[in-house]
Amino acid sequence: AERRLHHIAHHDTLTGLANRHGFHERLALAVERTRVDPAESLDVLFMDLDRFKGVNDSFGHQAGNELLIATARRLREAARPDDLVARLGGDEFAVLLEHLPDFDTSVGQANRLLEALSQPLAIQGADLLPAASVGITFSDLGYRTVDEILRDADLAMYQAKADGRARVAIFDQSMHERAAQKLALENDLRGAIGSSQMALVYQPIFELQPQRLAGFEALLRWTHPSRGSVSPAVFVALAEESGQIEALTEWVMETAAGQLSKWQRDDPGMTVSINVSGRDLGRPGFIDRAGTVLARHALRPGSLVMEITETTLMSQLDVAVDAMRALRGKGIRFSIDDFGTGYSSLAYLSRLPIDTLKIDRAFVNAIDRGPQNLEIVRAVQQLGQALGRRVVAEGIETAEQLSVLRDMGVDAGQGYLLARPMPVEQASALITLERSEPPRDTRS
Ligand code: C2E
Ligand code: MG
Ligand code: MG
Repeated sequence: AERRLHHIAHHDTLTGLANRHGFHERLALAVERTRVDPAESLDVLFMDLDRFKGVNDSFGHQAGNELLIATARRLREAARPDDLVARLGGDEFAVLLEHLPDFDTSVGQANRLLEALSQPLAIQGADLLPAASVGITFSDLGYRTVDEILRDADLAMYQAKADGRARVAIFDQSMHERAAQKLALENDLRGAIGSSQMALVYQPIFELQPQRLAGFEALLRWTHPSRGSVSPAVFVALAEESGQIEALTEWVMETAAGQLSKWQRDDPGMTVSINVSGRDLGRPGFIDRAGTVLARHALRPGSLVMEITETTLMSQLDVAVDAMRALRGKGIRFSIDDFGTGYSSLAYLSRLPIDTLKIDRAFVNAIDRGPQNLEIVRAVQQLGQALGRRVVAEGIETAEQLSVLRDMGVDAGQGYLLARPMPVEQASALITLERSEPPRDTRS
């Protein structure tokens, strides 16, 4: 009975692998050995399945469990008999390698494990391609405790995710430095939301034929007191990770709506697009908050547009679509941002409550670099037309791109050639200027 209890305490019931407790105990002994005898070595692989949540969400928990069991079996089979393979919890696995001759051999072993678990897997009639991100650290770094090792292997695993997933990353000291910097930035962000460090700039969106100002996209800028300007690509991701995206989006929505209502006094047709994160749409209360903002500023229905990237939209279609329907009922329009990069299912596209497709700037930019890129843009344009959606081209930088897009019949465009994102005063001046000038017909 005692042996049985010991087994239960040290093993994971789902997969039969060692559990966190069992792993810690064996690792502690191994660490001790390397301290006593410098000739002894150990390596720890920390492994996190990629997109496990997606499998759970789309196929159900039963499928998720099957994937975990299959992963455990594959790791066990690919590992050497003496390697300890453990499931630490959720979709996290760890492997302890001892007595390997050198570090290259350990990295080779890590890649072999990764390859074994990445073989196609049939689950509930679907063919999955499992993948994992692996962080690896080794005893040459002179570890004294189990916690230090796991912390570093975990940091390396996050680096593997950040580098694009489905790969192995080796721990190095600079990862500590980066982790510390990230944490500091996260804290600074907390204080910056709603302060004078944050501002919206507005990039004009023009109808192309005839060329006429149609509205603006509000883009967020953060001027950090010591680092200067931080890219939104960096701090928006940080805000999402650290649970601050709600506050950020709310501030953007309120500020942009307030500005739009001022502009609408002079120009009733004015529109503003804001960028929302996938998280926003899944949050209870978001729909009501948006309704309140619309009402408070008495915005004309259809004049506030929310942009959501194709990738986030596709990754949580069910939640997003319900929220979008409800928001649309309140007069908000939707635009799919960075279209062409997120593998939209065409079957869904026609049913989504969206008004606009924004062709990703990578395609627009590549127009003058070959006929194939041109065909991609043309395909999106035709798709938009067939579905009755407006098409906006992002990132127009050259006169040639503009003229191709115009000839193709693309409805609207945005880009450095037409105008850069600008401070609010300049945007207001542009509206005044446009109102005093007749639209430019640029055909012929
Ligand atoms: P996005 O929504 O696709 O915005 C367009 C980005 O392309 C902007 O970068 C804009 O400055 C840039 N851009 C516009 N025209 C051109 C061009 O002709 N050439 C090139 N190379 N770039 C052009 P920005 O402002 O750095 O924003 C990057 C991304 O950060 C945005 O991509 C958006 O996804 C996100 N973002 C910005 N503001 C917000 C916000 O308030 N909330 C959220 N959730 N995300 C935001
Ligand atoms: Mg956008
Ligand atoms: Mg975009």
